[in-house]
Amino acid sequence: MEDQSFYTLTVHADEDKKAHFGAVSVPIYASSIFAFSDVDEGIQIHNHEKPGYYYGRLGNPTTEALERAAAKLESAESAAAFASGMAAISGTITALVGKGEQIVAPKSMYSTTTNLLKFLSDRFAIQTVFADATDTGAFMAAISDKTKLVWLESPSNPLLEISDIRAIASAAHRVGACVVIDNTFATPFNQRPLELGADAVIHSATKYLGGHSDLTAGILAGPADLVARVRETTFRYFGGNIAPQVAWLVLRGIKTLALRMERHNANAYALAKTLLTHPKVKAVFYPGLETHKNHEIARSQMSGFGGMLSFDLGSAVAAKEFIGRVKLCTYATSLGGVESIVQPVALMTHATLSASERAASGISEGLIRMSVGVEDFEDIRKDVSDALC
Ligand code: PLP
Repeated sequence: MEDQSFYTLTVHADEDKKAHFGAVSVPIYASSIFAFSDVDEGIQIHNHEKPGYYYGRLGNPTTEALERAAAKLESAESAAAFASGMAAISGTITALVGKGEQIVAPKSMYSTTTNLLKFLSDRFAIQTVFADATDTGAFMAAISDKTKLVWLESPSNPLLEISDIRAIASAAHRVGACVVIDNTFATPFNQRPLELGADAVIHSATKYLGGHSDLTAGILAGPADLVARVRETTFRYFGGNIAPQVAWLVLRGIKTLALRMERHNANAYALAKTLLTHPKVKAVFYPGLETHKNHEIARSQMSGFGGMLSFDLGSAVAAKEFIGRVKLCTYATSLGGVESIVQPVALMTHATLSASERAASGISEGLIRMSVGVEDFEDIRKDVSDALC
């Protein structure tokens, strides 16, 4: 991170006082093509011999402002902005790993990433070894000379599992593998994986970076050569680039990221503590709790523990009853917005996994995932307590 406080950085990360006629809010350049002033300039810009814009899929000034801001937040040299988190994930993986090469990934993480890796194995012979990313020794043992990419998601969705980023990155680098981490749950306010040894970071900017449940977007941040490689293959061949209108919304979200995360952190921690002693709650998963199995690792690599938690109500029936009774909380599948959001994990986002796969990754039928919002804590606590009765 630069010398500035993260609060200051979020407000000024997209700033370029000399550009855009001094506009304080970066304008939305709603243009898919950019005209050239003379014949030679057109040829040079098109052939990347001179900086400039020429076609929306391959670059836009609003999008570039977001990419600059996202890179700063993650202490990265460069960033690329995508139309969704999955566009960033699939674009990064397919640019970095080829036929016959191997990925090592957590056995418990966002189910669509798991399913993407299985799809890539079935269709394109890119094999993934799934290992327990909370067991550092076992996960490192899965990394071998064949490993090209180590994928991490910490904290993970939906169980808030924590991986030892420093140790795993060192093991990966010993065999020349690249480490990419999905930092969606933590956000750079709480965790900056590049400072811990990871090579690149992915975000579903749909969540906390956007922060208002009004867009879908994705970010890749990392070394300039890695980002350029992904950009060159993914945007050129597959598309999946962000629209400038959406990039502008993410930029606006980022300005309040630190303020929102401070409140998300405080509310989630207080709620996790409350749930821990509730008789209807069988288990609470939140890395900020001393009872969390990787709390010490979380403390060593995170400055706050985020706004996400999950808890087990024992059965699918109890989970459905709870969801049916909440009034303030929104029943929806996303997370990271200012509002509190709840969902029954096994019945929704992780329903695409088989029951045995869910059991193997520790997802019980009664698991509720909650994105704790920035409302007054007492209002959130009351809604959740009332719904648990
Ligand atoms: N990564 C994590 C941890 C997620 O929770 C999600 C979506 O829920 C994604 C990636 C995918 O992001 P998007 O929905 O923006 O494609």
